Amino acid sequence: MKTSTQISRRSFIQKGSIATGALLLGNAISALAKGKKMGVALVGLGYYSSGQLAPALLHTNNCYLAGLVTGTPQKAVDWAKKYNIPQKNIYNYQNFDEIANNPDIDIVYIVLPVSMHKEFTIRAAKAGKHVLCEKPMALNAAECRDMIAACKKANRLLSIGYRLHFEPHTQEVMRLGQKKVMGKVTTIDTGNGFTYGGDPNAWRLKKAMAGGGGLMDMGIYAIQGSRYTLGEEPIAVKATQEKKRPDFFKEVDETVFWELKFPGGAKVTGKSSYNNNWGYLHVTTEKGNFELDPAFGYGGLDGKINGKHMDIPNIIQQAAQMDDFATCVALNKQSRVPGEEGLKDMKVVDAIYRSLDSGKWENI
Ligand code: NAD
Repeated sequence: MKTSTQISRRSFIQKGSIATGALLLGNAISALAKGKKMGVALVGLGYYSSGQLAPALLHTNNCYLAGLVTGTPQKAVDWAKKYNIPQKNIYNYQNFDEIANNPDIDIVYIVLPVSMHKEFTIRAAKAGKHVLCEKPMALNAAECRDMIAACKKANRLLSIGYRLHFEPHTQEVMRLGQKKVMGKVTTIDTGNGFTYGGDPNAWRLKKAMAGGGGLMDMGIYAIQGSRYTLGEEPIAVKATQEKKRPDFFKEVDETVFWELKFPGGAKVTGKSSYNNNWGYLHVTTEKGNFELDPAFGYGGLDGKINGKHMDIPNIIQQAAQMDDFATCVALNKQSRVPGEEGLKDMKVVDAIYRSLDSGKWENI
């Protein structure tokens, strides 16, 4: 943590959940009244860290970029200069565990290929740090369970990088759907994907590192979107897939289509792709319809209710997400997107892959 004049006692109280209990709130306020911000170390300085998370950390009130973990010495030099990071707060993947002795780092944010999420979550928790881990949480649900158990054992908080839970259009969709504001949700159709034109040797195309293709990377948002619109957990899924570029997507899925069964009976279809530009969530209810399109990105969301635009501002989602987790750490309070939330999505993903193999409905 560091001293800062940027955080005010009032803004902290607004961001925190006041209902968490007088004692915990008192502790957090006393920490922040002293001007403490939580120190975040980014692990993996690739596309998302450099393009989104580090810039967002310049706009956070309750946390700041305090440390770096990278395997590339030149990145350490460049980032240290750009973000004013002291040498003592820079680690590589080998000496990472020494972060245990660094009081500047409160939160470790894992922004690595999916196959590395479990290892670094467990190492961070063992080092006594709270953990933010990017989506998809891990290669499969079994790994998610191990990560949750390790953080529980170390008494550390774990949260998944589900930035949309802090985004106001998404929160409106949750309110409309979960509170049945326009009656019960009857159908959801959602899709997320992009046309992959990148490096054919990238980790995203390797099953061992990515766990899968468009489903793991992009489909997870569409699965989430269905779950948070309904506020229910799906019970079964049937999926099919299509490959138009089998030479390119040799190891991972390209385009996947699924139907999800939810206990309330809503008809829910979804799709994911590395070969189509999709990003929408369309919902019909007993009394009308609402939609987000774009629904899942961070370049600005847009929504409509019965054809009329939602008048809702866009925000820096990652700043809101990281500030919220810093507040959770200060209050010792579970994040609204804990490891269990990542596990729920991975259970659906696992069942979709089982259904692609069996050609049948699979229980989740
Ligand atoms: P990236 O490939 O750009 O960055 C990955 C980083 O990991 C690089 O710095 C790379 O050097 C490092 N790395 C360490 N060991 C590696 C290895 N053996 N092979 C390859 N890279 C290795 O990826 P990214 O797009 O930044 O994605 C990282 C994570 O962030 C993924 O889990 C991804 O799903 C997630 N992500 C989330 C969002 C979001 O909106 N929440 C957006 C983009 C990416």
